[in-house]
Amino acid sequence: MAGIYFHIPFCQQACHYCNFFFTTSKRFLNSTTEAMLKELEYRKDYLSGETIQTIYFGGGTPSMLPPSEIQTLIDGVKNLFSVDSELEITLEANPDNLTKPYLEELKKTDVNRFSIGIQSFHQDELLWMNRAHNSEEAKRCLELVESYQYDHYSVDLILGIPISSREKWQQNLDILSGFRPKHVSCYALTVEPKTALDYQIKNGKSPAIKDTETEEQFYMAHDFLSKKGYKHYEISNYGLPGYAAKHNSSYWEGKKYLGIGPSAHSYNRESRSWNIAHLPKYLEGVNKGQLNLETENLSKVDQYNEFVMTNIRKSSGISLEILKQNFAEYIEHFDDSLLEIPKTFLNRKQSTISLSREGLMFADFVGSALFFVV
Ligand code: SF4
Repeated sequence: MAGIYFHIPFCQQACHYCNFFFTTSKRFLNSTTEAMLKELEYRKDYLSGETIQTIYFGGGTPSMLPPSEIQTLIDGVKNLFSVDSELEITLEANPDNLTKPYLEELKKTDVNRFSIGIQSFHQDELLWMNRAHNSEEAKRCLELVESYQYDHYSVDLILGIPISSREKWQQNLDILSGFRPKHVSCYALTVEPKTALDYQIKNGKSPAIKDTETEEQFYMAHDFLSKKGYKHYEISNYGLPGYAAKHNSSYWEGKKYLGIGPSAHSYNRESRSWNIAHLPKYLEGVNKGQLNLETENLSKVDQYNEFVMTNIRKSSGISLEILKQNFAEYIEHFDDSLLEIPKTFLNRKQSTISLSREGLMFADFVGSALFFVV
């Protein structure tokens, strides 16, 4: 089983914290779908005939594409690949795009899951982040999505916003629980180099992120959502039973995926490749039949490091059986590295090693401690 990711690079406006590849220009909005279909055709053998289990439209803001073009891309996949009968098709969407006419059209497509970028229900926080939607739209779009009987949708929230507080974060969680998302992602705000947020903090125009607040809000979400029946199945992700995101889970499970569109990454266990993060050059390359992509072959060490880093983030943790089967040569290093990690960060069972409640905040530290450095 494998997945296909489409990177739709268009955004209404630039969020201050964002370091994804996107453009606010609409210049190539009408020519990108066609180029992506061509790329799909060129790269149809990349997944060696594996059945497609998930299609994910990410970005950027995929909900800026008309629903008919989204369906054209889905049809492109169906024409070229064998697809699973329970294909999960997710559209990342921003609240300002999820209007009645848009949902009316989208209902005619095969999209069966949304990942909605709410981020916060507070107007001052949305403005501070420079999001394109307001707090009314955030609530209204969830009502609309539910009224269109989309059973399976996910809400993204951002925790640790410097102008937030524990009270405001709790209000976000309370408002969220008035709706019925099957899945919730809570991402900790990070300051990426060269973003507007980075500039603002360095120049004293914005308060800096406080780690203690981030940690507090992380555990508030963990406790609140766990009590509501969500399983905290990955550091940033929660799902009601049976509703873990299949697409995201496949990244953590090391399944193959093909990334289509500018800056999109692909992975086939032996190598990783990525398209150029430049829309005109991407289009030019595809139209000439010369893809602008780079490839990195993954050594055994790379594969081991990736395995420990992704699996330690999951609540199921690192399977010692799988570790032994695939990375026997690193077992000794793994066991030695465990001694460097505070015992209170880990739950050690006979067949798995996972993060304890205390260790959840230190996933990156634990993952890097287990790394094999050549
Ligand atoms: S909508 Fe998403 S991709 Fe676009 S600027 Fe904001 S965070 Fe970045």
